[in-house]
Amino acid sequence: MKQNYAIIGLGRFGGSICQTLVESGQEVLAIDKSEDRANAYMDIATHVVVGNAQDEMTLRSLGIRNFDQVIIAIGEDIQASILVTLMVKEMGVPNILAKANNGYHARVLEKIGADKVVHPERDMGIRIAHKMVSSNILDSIELSDEYSLAEIRVKNKKFFNKTLLEMDFRRRFGLTIVAVRRRNGDVIASPPAEEVVRENDHLLVIGNVEEVDQLDAKLN
Ligand code: ADP
Repeated sequence: MKQNYAIIGLGRFGGSICQTLVESGQEVLAIDKSEDRANAYMDIATHVVVGNAQDEMTLRSLGIRNFDQVIIAIGEDIQASILVTLMVKEMGVPNILAKANNGYHARVLEKIGADKVVHPERDMGIRIAHKMVSSNILDSIELSDEYSLAEIRVKNKKFFNKTLLEMDFRRRFGLTIVAVRRRNGDVIASPPAEEVVRENDHLLVIGNVEEVDQLDAKLN
């Protein structure tokens, strides 16, 4: 679905979001107070504006309130990030994603109404550490606040050579298996209940965020 995005701040975080959204065919308005940063995105973003987002008139003249989603990717300047988030919220933007630099900053952004707050360094650290210690979960992504998708390699022998029906993931773990990937790369999407799971198979499961988080401990 095509949406209108505005990105405020074109550092590493805002810049990579901008590039990826444009590559996915989305319309992106990119704003940065630094002329150099803005120039770097001239040929990438749909529209680029040099301007200080702390200036309410600038935000109004750009019609920020008409955007489906605004991403506030201001880096170090926490005061600017908070003020801009507040103004964008007051303008009635339905979806605001803001980047936080630390836990306190994140709490303030949530309180003033950011719909999603990300803390990239911390989130990535958690993800990498989880991958290091987790023996069954190879990767996972949060699809929303409620649902996660995870790729798992079942190591417990009691699951080998069982059908999906016998494994009964839905009742046992509250998860649905949406695909099985064989060692040779074959993928069985929407596998039937009688599909047999072998050693070294990868399972793609979808379910509640908490259920996915607890899955590793339950599988061992
Ligand atoms: P990152 O960690 O994502 O690289 P940076 O601090 O390098 O973060 O980048 C933040 C960007 O936000 C910078 O390009 C900076 O010019 C921009 N920025 C900061 N304050 C404002 C503001 N008030 N209005 C517009 N852009 C801003």
